[in-house]
Parts: sequence; C-alpha cells; structure tokens
Amino acid sequence: MKSARQVFIEFLGDNGMSLTHQRRVIVESFLENEGHFTAEQLYSRVSKQAPDIGQATVYRTLKLLVESGLADAFDLGEGVTLYEHHYGHAHHDHLVCAQCGRKVEIVDETIERRQAALAEENGFTLTRHRMVLFGICPACSGAAA
Ligand SMILES: [Zn+2]
Ligand SMILES: [Zn+2]
Ligand SMILES: [Zn+2]
Repeated sequence: MKSARQVFIEFLGDNGMSLTHQRRVIVESFLENEGHFTAEQLYSRVSKQAPDIGQATVYRTLKLLVESGLADAFDLGEGVTLYEHHYGHAHHDHLVCAQCGRKVEIVDETIERRQAALAEENGFTLTRHRMVLFGICPACSGAAA
C-alpha cells in the first residue's frame, strides 16, 4: 500500500500541481492528528507551526486532501463540516451526542450489508454512505439525572 504522502504527491502531479513547502506543512499537520476536526482547527494548528501560511491556503489544501481521498469531509448535523483521515482507515459510522457533541465511531457488519442490499434493490451501485445516530451520551444523561 502506498503511503498517504505518496498518494497525495501523485494526486498533485496528476493535476499539474506540486508539493510546495506550504502544502507539505499542512499535509504533515493533517497526518499527525487522528480524530475529527474542523478546517479552522487545522488552520490554527498549522499557523502555530508556520505563521506565514494563510487560512485560504489551508482551506484550499484541505479540499485537495479530500479530493485525493486522504481526508473525508462530513456534516454531523451541527452545520459545521468535519474532517478526518480516510486513506488507509477502515470505514466507520458515527454516534453523536446531541448535547456535548461527543462522537463515537461505530461499525456493524449487518447494517453495512443491509445498506448495500437496499441500494442494490433500488438499482443503485453504492459508492459511499454516512450513517449518523444522534442521542445523549452516558456522561450527559448522567449529569441530567
Ligand atoms: Zn457504514
Ligand atoms: Zn454528551
Ligand atoms: Zn470518525
């Protein structure tokens, strides 16, 4: 399997772009951090390391990370786009606490298979999906009791 960096460099090359110093700093910062983050959070991490890199550059590079398949972007109903690593990471869905925003990664093979079957029954070839379950996490339901 190719490294994430290699995949990104090839994607840039295929699109007539190169791995500039700024893009390299942004990609390294992206790869260092697992979990879910917003574009602003990535920008604030990058700008601590390299104050000369502007917000627009970070946002554009993040878009390239999604297009290259390294990152996945999704909206968990909070009106904010979140990003996470995608390349080399197993598929998962999310449980989200509607109160504190805590996210738990979940996967269930039976549900996965049913989703594929449902798509097929409707003549669709499934390319991707996002299942998000909203609820109240144990910490929040405990505090409310
Ligand atoms: Zn799934
Ligand atoms: Zn909670
Ligand atoms: Zn996740």
